Amino acid sequence: MIPFSEVRLLSLPVSEHLGAAHGATAGPARELVVVALDDGDAVGWGECSALTTPGYSHEHARAGYELLTAGVPIDRESYPMAAAAVEMAELDLLLRRADQSLAEHFGVEVESVPAGATLGIGPESTTVERARAMAGAGYRRVKLKIDPAHASSIVAAVRAAVPDVEIHVDANGSFAPTEVSELYTLDKLGVTVIEQPFPADDTIATATLVSSVEATVVADEAVGSVADAERLLAEGALGGVSIKPARVGGLAAALQLLDWCVEHGVDALAGGMLESGLGRHALAAFAGLPGFTIAGDISPSSRWFAADPWPDITMIDGRVLVPRAAGVAPAPDPEMLDRLTIAVTTR
Ligand SMILES: [Mg+2]
Repeated sequence: MIPFSEVRLLSLPVSEHLGAAHGATAGPARELVVVALDDGDAVGWGECSALTTPGYSHEHARAGYELLTAGVPIDRESYPMAAAAVEMAELDLLLRRADQSLAEHFGVEVESVPAGATLGIGPESTTVERARAMAGAGYRRVKLKIDPAHASSIVAAVRAAVPDVEIHVDANGSFAPTEVSELYTLDKLGVTVIEQPFPADDTIATATLVSSVEATVVADEAVGSVADAERLLAEGALGGVSIKPARVGGLAAALQLLDWCVEHGVDALAGGMLESGLGRHALAAFAGLPGFTIAGDISPSSRWFAADPWPDITMIDGRVLVPRAAGVAPAPDPEMLDRLTIAVTTR
């Protein structure tokens, strides 16, 4: 394994809080780990997208920092987000040396991908106001984070406020099978995607929902690998997959999962993890692949962060441009990187 030249724990100030049923995004800042590989000619950067605290996953930023600074090989199955950081840094370095963009490396032909805004759980009036602002900013897809106590009334209010915007919901596994009637109501309200309604291991409730609603029932937390997706499909519990490179152990594993979705006629969307501009660049290139059938979580980093060392992706008329600069992303601003770093290990 190539040694890292640098591992950094960053604290990125949040401009809008993303309330979610997993509760792992609270606080005024989002901690994030990045790794750098320096071969003397170029520096490659990789992002570990684990959130500040566990909840979405068992991985979290400080644990990722400990793991990545330990300098031991990382078990991708146990620590997919930390493993994804190593892979991204190696790939970024390779692409910089070859003067090639990630999109070119993937063979992405499109110039842009549909943008998707996500709104956290909050008071109905705030959510409606934010949905109007997102529609005004050009977003044609809004994903509402929901839990059983905040679902149909908020969706109905957003539906009325922005009738032309496609509405997805994401429950982060917070519904019990006994609360399914609320999900049927969302389906009748015209929600097109219901993401991770039940806990990841509740395949029976998920299978029932998949066969009873018009909306596509998308797995997020439940799919960490192609094997997971195969099992869910066999049990009738899979309508689509939110493919997050971080969750499955990196871009190579994410590509495999996307290929599997195409092969099996399963819908796919590119899922976001509150990445910095670095991870957002990777996601915007990945989302340009033709296998994606549903608008993903592609929004500029400035949607969430008040400051970010990496340049942002560009959104025009409800679409995000596929990045074409060499590497995974352009280099970070070194001064801002230092300012937002709360711990660093160099070797
Ligand atoms: Mg999700």
